[in-house]
Amino acid sequence: MLNPFAERKLKLNLLKSLRRGGRKIVAAPKYITCPGCKADFERSALQSVMYVCPRCGFHLQYPARERLEKLLDAGTFTEQFPNLTARDVLGFPGYPKKISEAASKTGLSEACFCASGSIGGHNAVCAAIDISFMMGSMGTAVGEKITLSAELAASSRLPLIIFSAGGGARMQEGIFSLMQMVKTSAAIRRFSDGGGLFISYITHPTTGGITASFASLGDITLAEPGALFGFAGPRVIEQTIGEKLPEGFQRSEFQLEHGFVDAIVSRAESRAALTSLLSLHT
Ligand SMILES: [Zn+2]
Repeated sequence: MLNPFAERKLKLNLLKSLRRGGRKIVAAPKYITCPGCKADFERSALQSVMYVCPRCGFHLQYPARERLEKLLDAGTFTEQFPNLTARDVLGFPGYPKKISEAASKTGLSEACFCASGSIGGHNAVCAAIDISFMMGSMGTAVGEKITLSAELAASSRLPLIIFSAGGGARMQEGIFSLMQMVKTSAAIRRFSDGGGLFISYITHPTTGGITASFASLGDITLAEPGALFGFAGPRVIEQTIGEKLPEGFQRSEFQLEHGFVDAIVSRAESRAALTSLLSLHT
């Protein structure tokens, strides 16, 4: 177990490296392969089309910060809770190093990125989970950032929009990680009881504890095309029940048909769709 001094030193190094020279510390690969059609694209080419494959329309992983920067009106973007990072509460071997590596890789302090600003002139509080940061697993810092976002939205009387992804509990935080399901659900409930509008926007893949908590509690649930949205993944279910699942099981189109999603909204349409929803509810 790390002593408090060593833990504090690691945290300071992490914050220092995040501040030093901006966001990207480790260079991202120059080419990205589309999981849909297996074509290779230059990162910059995909960046300009919000990481939607120009050939097959597959919605690739969208870095959380870029997503919110692009979504919010120019000049209104303000990052919220930027220095909140996970603590190695259990003294789990290698965990501080893993957090530090994930931060260097993504330029984020945690798997949840939060910002406030306006969308089409309507103010909102937004959060997005980035699966490049430890698979978007929900540890205490992710739970806290979601909770703080709901509380900020409540105190400012603004709508809350969360782009979900990832899903597993952060195993390095054990039971503290599982508790985040209850904590975030309670925060959304309080927000909802106060009359707040919560739009849950599902992106690929959203599973596990994130599905079983805040992602499923939206007043309105939107989903990106082809996004996996369920609790246990299809492979686990097939192995458990010994049966083949139907084509497209748990994908957003399937969930729309079964009433779990209200609308499928592509990335290109997301700003217009959110603007129109926010204008109806302001
Ligand atoms: Zn493709």
